[in-house]
Amino acid sequence: MIKASANVAVICQRINKNVHPKIIMARRLHARRLEGLDKNIWIEFTQLAADYKAVNLGQGFPDFSPPGYIQEAFCKAVSGGCSMHQYTRAFGHPALVKILAKFFGRIVGCEIDPLEDVLVTVGAYQALFCTFQALIDEGDEVIIIEPFFDCYQPMVKMAGGKAVFVPLRPRVGCSEVLSSGDWVLSPEELASKFSSRTKAIVMNTPNNPLGKVYKTEELQVIADLCIKHDVVCISDEVYEWLTYDGAKHVKIASLPGMWERTVTIGSAGKTFSATGWKVGWAIGSGHILKHLQTIHQNSVYHCATAAQEAVAVGFQREYETFGTPESYFLQLPEQLHHKRKKLAKCLESVGLQPIMPEGGYFMIADISSVKSDVDDSVSLDEPCDYRFVKWLIKKKGLATIPVSAFYSSEHCKDFDNYIRFCFVKEDSTLNAAEDILRKWSEGK
Ligand code: PMP
Ligand code: GLN
Repeated sequence: MIKASANVAVICQRINKNVHPKIIMARRLHARRLEGLDKNIWIEFTQLAADYKAVNLGQGFPDFSPPGYIQEAFCKAVSGGCSMHQYTRAFGHPALVKILAKFFGRIVGCEIDPLEDVLVTVGAYQALFCTFQALIDEGDEVIIIEPFFDCYQPMVKMAGGKAVFVPLRPRVGCSEVLSSGDWVLSPEELASKFSSRTKAIVMNTPNNPLGKVYKTEELQVIADLCIKHDVVCISDEVYEWLTYDGAKHVKIASLPGMWERTVTIGSAGKTFSATGWKVGWAIGSGHILKHLQTIHQNSVYHCATAAQEAVAVGFQREYETFGTPESYFLQLPEQLHHKRKKLAKCLESVGLQPIMPEGGYFMIADISSVKSDVDDSVSLDEPCDYRFVKWLIKKKGLATIPVSAFYSSEHCKDFDNYIRFCFVKEDSTLNAAEDILRKWSEGK
């Protein structure tokens, strides 16, 4: 018997007596494409928040339940007989792809084929993964707009591509940058990033972590460049229903000439406040989607049937109540609008200047005026926002996320003065965070 504590080398030696363990261990085990990708902010900061039992405004998930009707739909699906517990159609449960096609066809303004233009995935993560794997070849360039949801960069690398970054910057000449709308792309800088090697551009509206909701004119600049350079647009729209103060979410796929070159990505986790269900989708023209399907059928094959059935019921209900007060897609942003205001007021009162998000459920705040509070209990080797966040978790019991994690190594130094707060939380959680911040500010 080999003891559980025996190390890999000893196990290998026993399996293959002729090979010395040191020789086995000297071989590089990991594939080269993984180099530099072993760290992950969600793993690191979620663990830290749990270890210190911190009030958690870090990881983006609601600490309240999804709407009752969709929970009931899930329960009904689970007790709905044998078929709900078995494989369903690989590229998406029939009921779900049908309603996704009907629902989004109405929004994009074109006919969406449920069988060819839709792929249901394990969350938006897998939709992104399938897209990069399906479209990016060794040496292809992918333009990523910063700040970006952190997984885009490793996914491009794992597909063999090269990420080319272009940052949103606070508008020049704007004395006080107080809204995510004041962060803009320079059209000239963006245009300079396109080359004959560019295969795709990734954008995210409403943006995580900034909350920017791209206006039609801004999307048009991106669309024109995609058309001019024959580039695919990967549009991550997981927060599409969450916009505030009259900001309007526009799908880049709905602009002229863009449907045939855009993959639009969504998430039931974000849409129905059920991040643990891990149901997402990619929608786009069948001539692109068929390549995503090839990756999907040879890797994941399909996603949990009962969860897909419940999401289908949810979308059917939203289709029927669309634009009415019963629609969850109106109720959730209404609820979040108040939480966003509450958090902004609290941050301002303790000297943390927030950038008001136009959408999504995150708010970033400038820590320049308070970062000197950090003591030397945290490593000095890390960027200033990482040090601040770790100190806030360990010493004050409040978890947030450092914003430089959403930037490339080229640009993170220019943006390490912000931290991200998540406000899709119960008022009691927001109150607990407010207490911590107030005590800290009064004790200064
Ligand atoms: N894109 C963005 C911008 C996100 O914030 C997230 C995190 N929810 C995802 C994709 C992944 O979504 P999912 O949980 O559905 O995989
Ligand atoms: N999307 C979520 C966020 O931005 C978290 C994703 C994750 O935990 N992997 O907070």
